[in-house]
Amino acid sequence: MATIKGIAVAPGLASGIVHVVGARVDKAPHWTLRRSEIDSELERLERAISIVDERLERQRAFVERASGAQEAGIFAVHQMVLKDPSAKDSVVEAIRLERINAESAVQSLVARLRHTMGKLEGDSVRDYAADVSEPWRVVLDELLERDREQVVSTETEVILAAEELSPQVVTFMNPRRILAIVTTTGGRFSHGAVLARAFGIPCVVGLPNLLSRLEQGMNLLVDGDSGQIQLDPTDKDTEVFEVARERRQARRKALIRVAAKPARTKDGGVLGVHVNLESLRDLGTFDPDHCDGVGLLRTEFLYMERTQFPSEEEQFRLYRRVVDHFNGKPVVFRTLDLGGDKQLPYFKLPDEENPALGWRGLRITLEWQDLMRVQLRAILRAGASGPVRILLPMVTSVSEVTQVREVLEGTQAQLRSQGYDIPDRVDLGVMLEVPSSLMILRDLVKVADFVSVGTNDLVQYLLAVDRDNPFVAKLYEPCHPAIIRSLAYIGKICQEAGCPSTVCGDIAGEYVVALMLLGMGFDGVSVSPHFLAEVRLGVRSTTMDRVRSLVEDLQPLVSEKQILDVLEKLKTELHEELEKGLQ
Ligand code: PEP
Ligand code: MG
Repeated sequence: MATIKGIAVAPGLASGIVHVVGARVDKAPHWTLRRSEIDSELERLERAISIVDERLERQRAFVERASGAQEAGIFAVHQMVLKDPSAKDSVVEAIRLERINAESAVQSLVARLRHTMGKLEGDSVRDYAADVSEPWRVVLDELLERDREQVVSTETEVILAAEELSPQVVTFMNPRRILAIVTTTGGRFSHGAVLARAFGIPCVVGLPNLLSRLEQGMNLLVDGDSGQIQLDPTDKDTEVFEVARERRQARRKALIRVAAKPARTKDGGVLGVHVNLESLRDLGTFDPDHCDGVGLLRTEFLYMERTQFPSEEEQFRLYRRVVDHFNGKPVVFRTLDLGGDKQLPYFKLPDEENPALGWRGLRITLEWQDLMRVQLRAILRAGASGPVRILLPMVTSVSEVTQVREVLEGTQAQLRSQGYDIPDRVDLGVMLEVPSSLMILRDLVKVADFVSVGTNDLVQYLLAVDRDNPFVAKLYEPCHPAIIRSLAYIGKICQEAGCPSTVCGDIAGEYVVALMLLGMGFDGVSVSPHFLAEVRLGVRSTTMDRVRSLVEDLQPLVSEKQILDVLEKLKTELHEELEKGLQ
């Protein structure tokens, strides 16, 4: 039996057998085929090639429409590369004669293409080498998707173990069959972690050498609260663990029973407690009465769950389902926030040296306004069924907001002229995630109808700590004094300007942090479904005086340790009151 300590990213306890998802991309698995398997392996290869070819065709047509034939030329070149008979013949031959699996044969071809082209002189040739191998690299990815299918179709309940927790893996799996997730890399605020929390799946990441220590089918105990996992536990360990799990479940049930009561302090202060949604699958996991609406719908995950760009009609139907589900409570739709680890399976963004500082969020949709228009049309049309708001990710300047406002007004006018029933006005909000947005906050609140603080990104940009990088995970501290003071500043400026403000980053799910935000003047928080009940109960257990004095106590502190101690002390003080609220 061994215990490994990692980073706790999604709460909960789980015990079960582990299902290991294999290594990805550059380490394609290699195996020898039986003679009888050769034909089906060749079929797999053909299928992967034709999927990639169709995808390239769609991308070519899309880019041609958006930016012209010249820009789209690269996709046509990739299609030609894929159809080059000599390349394909070499793969087929390797499968037939060497009897190796398709992944391994394609990987050799990619290496060969890179090697031969790389030998020619000059950087541009090297770029070209990367280009000609690219479509085959995508075929390799496609073949490797097998891993994903295995996860999706796993029949028994398992604990999923993987090298990394990409949003794609989480998006495509069936959450009902996944008891917990454990991974070697990843951070507390990476998007895979956000999704695990949304689906209520206990999750621990940053577990060193995890995969080499596991065997398929091994028993595991996963503690998503403390970040500890136990490999091959004894019966006694499992017994003790099960008792703790049952106790935890009983508390959870008690919390759910009181979750419909709104978040009002004993002296009448109100905090809006909204929910963060990533998938329509989340809708069935909690009661809409347990929140005041949707504070953040990460629409990119709805795009990710598909095999091609959703049309306006499809988006409209999805969005209207959410609006109907919340029955009069507002739904905040964040426009498509792609980039970094959020990639669409059918549309590959360019590889970037530094994606967090690259082409992402609003930068993409402002450049490709067709994408934005279709989405705005769908949101506005869904607005006929209930209150909707629009939120912009990764805003860095006032002019970005005014540009979107223009597109929005044009879209509204167009829809009206086409006879659609849309709301008279729809609020346009700004996410505060980038330091520049704080420096120009007094100007932003003049052009925005509301703001929502995305602390997941704000922390990474203010502290210069990659939210996905386990090597710096210890430095990713949302309770750093710079973050606490920034939040206090935002709360104050928004209150002075009369601009509604919420925090939708995952920090707000910790109820004492939500209390702090209430004390800072925020109107609301938006949290994963799992945290709704405790945040509401926490607010009911205290007073405005108490949360304001908490903020005063925190302001002068100079270390995260001091801040965490003060928050922990408050938790201890409120414990009794909170438990009383559960009776
Ligand atoms: C954030 O950055 O805090 C946020 C809510 O957006 P995301 O986690 O999707 O980047
Ligand atoms: Mg963000």
